[in-house]
Amino acid sequence: MALIVQKYGGTSVGSVERIEAVADKIAGFRDKGDDIVVVVSAMSGETNRLVALAKEIMDQPTPREMDVLLSTGEQVTIALLCMALEKRGYGAHSFTGGQVRILTDDAHTKARIKEIDSSRIHAQLEQQNVVVVAGFQGVDEVGNITTLGRGGSDTTAVALAAALDADECQIYTDVKGVYTTDPRVVADARLLSTITFEEMLELASLGAKVLQIRSVEFAGKYRVPLRVLSSFEDDPGTLITLEEDSEMEDPSIAGIAFERDEAKLTVTGVPDVPGIAYKVIGPVGEAGIEVDVIVQNVGADGSNDITFTVKRNDSEKARKILQDVCTSLQAREVILDTKICKVSLVGVGMRSHAGIAAKMFKALADESINIQIITTSEIKISVVIEEKYLELAVRALHSAFNLGDPESSHSSK
Ligand code: ADP
Ligand code: ASP
Ligand code: MG
Repeated sequence: MALIVQKYGGTSVGSVERIEAVADKIAGFRDKGDDIVVVVSAMSGETNRLVALAKEIMDQPTPREMDVLLSTGEQVTIALLCMALEKRGYGAHSFTGGQVRILTDDAHTKARIKEIDSSRIHAQLEQQNVVVVAGFQGVDEVGNITTLGRGGSDTTAVALAAALDADECQIYTDVKGVYTTDPRVVADARLLSTITFEEMLELASLGAKVLQIRSVEFAGKYRVPLRVLSSFEDDPGTLITLEEDSEMEDPSIAGIAFERDEAKLTVTGVPDVPGIAYKVIGPVGEAGIEVDVIVQNVGADGSNDITFTVKRNDSEKARKILQDVCTSLQAREVILDTKICKVSLVGVGMRSHAGIAAKMFKALADESINIQIITTSEIKISVVIEEKYLELAVRALHSAFNLGDPESSHSSK
């Protein structure tokens, strides 16, 4: 008998029929004698619908009220899933994040979990009930509802698995597991049976939304056995492991991630004096805007160009801040380009394999794709390119590094 935490994402609970199917799946685990704690997302499209409603009223709703609004999506699915389980004769008990007491900090819309009180969950498990917890939400010290950032139900599930010392955390989604890249972009993307935490962390942070990055951080930190698998069919999916898989054919590259929603800002003609990068980037960071890739180069005239990327929906705010910086530093101009994207190759094997960057740049050159910025770390290489080339670049790299599945049977929809 095992204690399993299972998370079902938006598509998996996207309709009453899907919720009934999830209930059947959970019933199967209960029949085997497992204790089950379930985390559910809102029905697919619901969180977006709620965001759009808020935006109809005001452009920048207060984060506190946004959280009160967004948390309602998950409250619907916990209740419906419990009803579906009860209809089948299984005891079930729903909890909102606040009812469990998933304590977070007070950073509304991007809160971090600080502590989980597992006593109420244990009490329900002892009564042989399936416990169904609303993903993506918690409460702060004073009882305000908080949410954990988009995709946050993954993090709820892994954090619960850590708090309950579960035997496994299973993330059920709408594809069979983690692929070499998004199977919706590359038809012959290959399903990975295992991937290391380190690689999964990079893929998640570089845009592969199959797992929210914080969930991978949690799983690595608390050693939670984590598996991604399909809620639509029976397949062991992908196990996130601590060790590299030495049997992998070409271990140099695990996968390709991409990010569409970035924008590039350049301040040109900045005087080349110590502290200048801080003077340009500092005010942007102080405004709570996350700065991603940064490059600085000194031009022939001895002045600097400083270029960096931010999330696209922060880019206009960043541009305004930079305009003031530009004036005070007597720099030349601020250029905003919103039509860019970032494509990244990830693999722990890069440490021991030379020539990967060159092969990557050649594959892009062969498609006449211009690289605007390059950044590297030990296990990843990222390039910023024009947005319209995103799919072409991902497919070209996928085939240049032979990542494809010869049988290409990825689709589980
Ligand atoms: P859920 O609603 O279940 O949380 P998400 O939409 O958040 O599902 O994440 C699953 C999606 O992640 C898939 O449908 C797929 O399009 C996308 N995805 C991006 N990169 C990958 C990858 N490397 N492997 C699998 N899926 C990926
Ligand atoms: N419903 C939330 C979202 O759409 C959380 C989640 O699905 O994980 O982002
Ligand atoms: Mg998700």
